[in-house]
Amino acid sequence: MNRRIRQLFPALQQRINGQPLSYLDSAATSQKPAPVIAAVQQFYRRDNANVHRAGYTLAARATAQFEQARATVAGHFGMPATNLVWTKGCTEAINLVAFSWALEQLSENDVVLVSGLEHHANLLPWQQVCRAKGARLVIVPVLATGELDLDAYRTLLAQQPKLVAVAHVSNVLGTVNPVAEMIDQAHQVGAKVLVDGAQAAAHLSVDVGQLNADFYTFSGHKMYGPTGIGGVLMSTEAMDACVPWQTGGEMVEQVSYQDASWASAPHCFEAGTPNIAGAIGLASAVQFLQQLPSNWQQQEAELLDYAKAKLNAIEGIELVGETPQQVAVQSFISRQIHPHDLAHYLDQAGVSVRLGKHCAHPLLAALGHESTLRLSLACYSNQQDIDQLVAAIELAVEAQHEGHAVGMLDEHSA
Ligand code: PMP
Repeated sequence: MNRRIRQLFPALQQRINGQPLSYLDSAATSQKPAPVIAAVQQFYRRDNANVHRAGYTLAARATAQFEQARATVAGHFGMPATNLVWTKGCTEAINLVAFSWALEQLSENDVVLVSGLEHHANLLPWQQVCRAKGARLVIVPVLATGELDLDAYRTLLAQQPKLVAVAHVSNVLGTVNPVAEMIDQAHQVGAKVLVDGAQAAAHLSVDVGQLNADFYTFSGHKMYGPTGIGGVLMSTEAMDACVPWQTGGEMVEQVSYQDASWASAPHCFEAGTPNIAGAIGLASAVQFLQQLPSNWQQQEAELLDYAKAKLNAIEGIELVGETPQQVAVQSFISRQIHPHDLAHYLDQAGVSVRLGKHCAHPLLAALGHESTLRLSLACYSNQQDIDQLVAAIELAVEAQHEGHAVGMLDEHSA
């Protein structure tokens, strides 16, 4: 089954440094299946025109496809098309909420409650807005396991935050936060909730309507779609409270030299020519996700367990975080080999893993790590990917024992 899925991904068919590619960095960006590549190509080869502007046939076709893509992607998240604002990705989506909602809604001394395990994309915009408005940024602490301290969260809600911002899934640890429960509790004290779904969208079935999130943000390129497209799904009430954050073409109704009135939502939040091909490609990615065999999430979970067991068995390898609710992301370190050296060695062995602080400096500091290696899986990952990783680490550990510097092993390992 997995073999058939894998064959749909042309980039996975190559060799890297003379070895089969073991791509274990899908949390950074997933590879793209052939239908997504074809959808983008078809748009440029046949349907390319600007949207919402001209009345000629080609432009009408482009507009229809672009708006159909909005309905497909919003529907995938259980929301109506009019509740989806396109952005270039999750970062821009969170900035949109920060500047078109929070900047309007926050006053001095208001509290914004942000989880302690966020990617910088879901922390820095809140720092900026809180600084601008004199509001207070309060952090929900993280336990040593990599889970949020939910007792502390409940206590902090007594400060009556205006907004809670939390990742659905941690990009460092794979922790699945109990967002449904957190949203419910936040709503009881009158807070709005933004859920950063960047890592969740590729692994979980997400119904934003059912979750009752006020804002749910995502990036297309992490869910098998193109780069440069993503969005924010907003409840109608939250959307009504937003003001346009960027102005220009496409987002207006009437304009005089001195004044302008805005188009209706969601178009008033989409100034300028959007990423039309990206949206169409993302709709194709969503259809790809919907057509995956029903047990694909189970298969990813089993492969993660396999990887964890194999890594645990290697001398000196330590898994970072121990969360019962986890999707296919796992950080680890070697007690003997510096992560930079190990990552370089793995690359020589055809294995792509992420190295560093994963755009989550405060979380790494809270966990007491300078940097980690991170493997992340997708629906196309298989045991061979993991075996290749494990074999390369074992070789590196062995070489270290024998007194070779791992960075010098490249020539010997080929
Ligand atoms: N949030 C999380 C949890 C992420 O993992 C990422 C990407 N690594 C982002 C936000 C930002 O996404 P993008 O770079 O696509 O805007």
